[in-house]
Amino acid sequence: MTLEEQLEHLPAEPGVYLFKSARGAVLYVGKAQNLKSRVRQYVNGGDGRIRIPALIERAVSVDVLVTGNVKEALLLENELIKQHRPPFNVRLRDDKQYLALRIDTKEAWPRITMVRRFRKDGANYFGPYTSSISLKKSLSKLRGLFPLRSCTDGTFKDYARRGRPCIEYEMKRCLGPCCELTDQSAYAEQVTGTMLFLRGKSRELVDSIEREMAAAAADERFEDAARLRDRLQAIERTIESQQIVTEQGLDRDVFAIAREGGEVDVQVLHVREGRVIGARDFPFSNVRIDDGEVMGSFLGQFYGSGEGHSPPREVLTSVDFEDDGALAMLWLERFGQAVSIRRPQRGGSRRLLEIAERNASLSLSTRLAARESVETALRELEERCRLSVRPHRIECYDVSNLQGTLAVASRVSFEAGQPVKKDYRRYRIRDAEPGDDYACMREVLDRRFRRVDKEPLPDLLMVDGGRGHLGVVMAALDDAGLEVEVLGISKQRDEDSPSRRVKRSGGLKAERIYRPGRVNPIQLAPSSRGMLLLQRIRDESHRFAIEFQRELRSKVNMTSILEELPGIGPHKRSALLKALGSLRGVRNASLDELRAVPGVSNRDAESIRRFFDALAASQAAPELPPDDA
Ligand code: SF4
Repeated sequence: MTLEEQLEHLPAEPGVYLFKSARGAVLYVGKAQNLKSRVRQYVNGGDGRIRIPALIERAVSVDVLVTGNVKEALLLENELIKQHRPPFNVRLRDDKQYLALRIDTKEAWPRITMVRRFRKDGANYFGPYTSSISLKKSLSKLRGLFPLRSCTDGTFKDYARRGRPCIEYEMKRCLGPCCELTDQSAYAEQVTGTMLFLRGKSRELVDSIEREMAAAAADERFEDAARLRDRLQAIERTIESQQIVTEQGLDRDVFAIAREGGEVDVQVLHVREGRVIGARDFPFSNVRIDDGEVMGSFLGQFYGSGEGHSPPREVLTSVDFEDDGALAMLWLERFGQAVSIRRPQRGGSRRLLEIAERNASLSLSTRLAARESVETALRELEERCRLSVRPHRIECYDVSNLQGTLAVASRVSFEAGQPVKKDYRRYRIRDAEPGDDYACMREVLDRRFRRVDKEPLPDLLMVDGGRGHLGVVMAALDDAGLEVEVLGISKQRDEDSPSRRVKRSGGLKAERIYRPGRVNPIQLAPSSRGMLLLQRIRDESHRFAIEFQRELRSKVNMTSILEELPGIGPHKRSALLKALGSLRGVRNASLDELRAVPGVSNRDAESIRRFFDALAASQAAPELPPDDA
């Protein structure tokens, strides 16, 4: 049956429809008051507003599920979008990808924690937050204002046993409940204050502190009154820094859409008591439904995503959409809150909407500019490095060892200039000599190339290294009978100069790009987009390898590390431990002391010293920040 023929059999009732491809994949899920007329609009064009040619070209069938009313259809639609992830729907990411703050007031001494899930466990959740950086900033500010404990239960008990609080108490960021330096009611005040602050209830919060302050002064508890005054001032300073956007102190969430073709940004402003307390941006790509459909679908998912994530009394939107009445009824039932959904035309509400619209446009243009910049970088690499394809997908390999021990390798994958972390791999070198970089690289590549059936090759494979490394890659590809574009990137050294100093260009270490079949390395300008992208990928690969090695180092027994040192077998190891008393003795021994151990040569002594010096340096080195891009 064709779609047109199926149309004749559809009921004129409320429900959900699912467009499916020839292979049975769900392409789009929608809801309707009248299934028959809605699906007809899609198939025949109807009023021309919602017809999506790309969808109708691919859809071969439509399934429908009849519901009692549109409200039930809304619920079902959200469930089906979550379940099938249809490509033509706008889909919010899973809850667990967002961060939230959690306070469980059932705990004896509640603490505030960052979590990845809203659970139905009776605790209070605040958020979600899309950026961990902004959440950490908020948390740090919050701890300065309301000194709740930040420790785990285990640490709490530990300090209680010791009878002295941790540094947080000294820093006035915790009241020290572990050592009974506060009482339940004083602590509960902080919990209440934190929750009011997070809900944006600044007026209520300020009133309650002022009341407490007056009571403390009346009871001649002047120290308490002074402490409350300081807190009040700090809170007022924080509130003042939040922009006032409306004279009426109302609670509203404001939703605006910006669009360029299939690229859409939905901006959400959270306004509490007339102040913007948070703004979030949700980017979507390849959107082929109209703005009204985007808004309806987005709102349905936005407030359905978890406990504690409920709508305020007013929801303002930049576009009209169907079924807003059904959505409001659904929220009333689910959250016990009457919500007015409207598109304001004038006044303070309209100004709020304009702010959201401006921010949505800004986010969209920033995103498109970043994409344009990546396109420029990829085009530059394609042209300057004479690649046969534009390298949309790039893999980079790096090998790392610690003074010839604990050899590991990393693979990072980037698509359109962005890391694809699910495709990152870590390799523990099994067969190659740990200090032999080329052999380690060869082992990793052989292992990678054996999996091309499961993991197709990228457009460009890059390695951190020069001609030697490139030769290893080409040999591995030859042996595997594979072809892929390859390049090596390495810091430029003056190989002709005896000092072999790293060359610098404009304060930056100059880099060389090596390509198979080219005698001379390619030099891109250090600040060119192509070079910056390659460096970013190489640095990420390096970071990932080092991170793995650190992890490994912390797990491996140090005594056995000694055995992994080249030239140190069980006999020399026993001699070292016997002569120097312990591993610590070996680690701290001078070169002369090591040389004096029977059976240990000058070379062994140097290798041991070098190893422990490198280990100490690497342990003292600060952790590199993860690539948060
Ligand atoms: S002072 Fe005590 S309760 Fe507060 S964070 Fe430190 S250990 Fe936890």
